[in-house]
Amino acid sequence: MVIRIGKTLPPAAAPITLENVLSGIIGMIRGEVEAERRVRELQEYFKLKGCFLVSSGKAALTVILEALKKMFPDRCEVLIPAFTCYSVPSAIVRAGLKVRLCDVDPETLDFNYSQLANILSRDCGKLLCIVPVHLFGLPADMARTRILTEGKDVVIVEDAAQAMGAEYNGVKLGSSGDVGFFSMGRGKPVSTVEGGIIVTRREDIASYIAGEVNGLPDYGAIEILRLLFYALCLVIFLRPSLFWLPRQLPFLRLGETIFDPEFKIRRMSGFQAGLAKGWRCKLQKMKSLRGENATGLLGKLEKLDVGTFGLKGGSLPDLIRLPLKLGTEQKRELVLKLSERMGLGIAGSYPDSVAGIPELHGDGLGGPFPAAEEIARKIITLPVHPYLTESDKDRIGYLLKRAQ
Ligand SMILES: *Cc1c(COP(=O)(O)O)cnc(C)c1O
Repeated sequence: MVIRIGKTLPPAAAPITLENVLSGIIGMIRGEVEAERRVRELQEYFKLKGCFLVSSGKAALTVILEALKKMFPDRCEVLIPAFTCYSVPSAIVRAGLKVRLCDVDPETLDFNYSQLANILSRDCGKLLCIVPVHLFGLPADMARTRILTEGKDVVIVEDAAQAMGAEYNGVKLGSSGDVGFFSMGRGKPVSTVEGGIIVTRREDIASYIAGEVNGLPDYGAIEILRLLFYALCLVIFLRPSLFWLPRQLPFLRLGETIFDPEFKIRRMSGFQAGLAKGWRCKLQKMKSLRGENATGLLGKLEKLDVGTFGLKGGSLPDLIRLPLKLGTEQKRELVLKLSERMGLGIAGSYPDSVAGIPELHGDGLGGPFPAAEEIARKIITLPVHPYLTESDKDRIGYLLKRAQ
């Protein structure tokens, strides 16, 4: 890694202010009451009764899977896209279930629907659920998945970890599956350091999930102090003038994507619920700033030979990063190296398809998954967070031109 001292953009950032931390401390004192307030706000926002707060997105998915397992004890497989966040297979393994993969469409990052149709028509007797994902905020075609599962007892679990507050055709992402979840981790639309939300429109699923969540342990005092410390670090170090510093500290594992089923699962603390105070307003503001940045960046790419996953200025979905596909692996390496040198926050994505996770080998994942593998080798993501300036956008445009 290049040692860089000086202005460095983080690849993704949901700013936390000192005011948010103060709300967090008040929430810590109020405890349960604060979390109940957030739940009521979520119920109102999503117009759904079933809303639950836990310690992370992967904790949310694990809780959902544990609940579904109890509802359908003879089913043990979870079908996910072959290119998705490693937290997803981590949660599946944590819940004691089996990962199944469907390749992605290299033009949209959504499922390869002919493969999905094939899997669903042949062999879904053991299939518990499907987990479509709105990667980077690119909306997955929920209606299409719904049609393909019609008449089958397969649950649709919507992974909207990166898409809280995003809408598509007037529908809020995360709320159209049987059950959905959001992440409030560090690089997500709004952050409570770590946090997860479950929403469901189905009463039967809601009552099983309520049972699971009620049985979860609470955060201990030391864990909450750790969250408080982390939140203060984010207040200070997320800004580009200082972000170079935490980036040099390998134990923070910034930007790393790891497979690890050994994460903690807790009910959300009052501190986190307090940090989330004002989330609707914040989401709205961030959404419009990110939208302007994404539009601005796309404008700099005209005439360049990069794939944009169908994204066009004018009618963009609500993205938290702008994904691009480069022509070759060599170009991608060059872009990432130049970005590191210039501190521009361009990042890759997940390092490989889910089938390439060494810990999952021998688990009968099938394959090959050529599109997922190709995406992993050629994708870059541009930052669109609110710290991005006009001059940053110019420099990113210049860098991509230079790497052509
Ligand atoms: C971040 C993320 C998750 C997991 O959320 P955490 O809060 O980090 O546990 C799951 N799926 C996707 C697509 C994500 O981006």
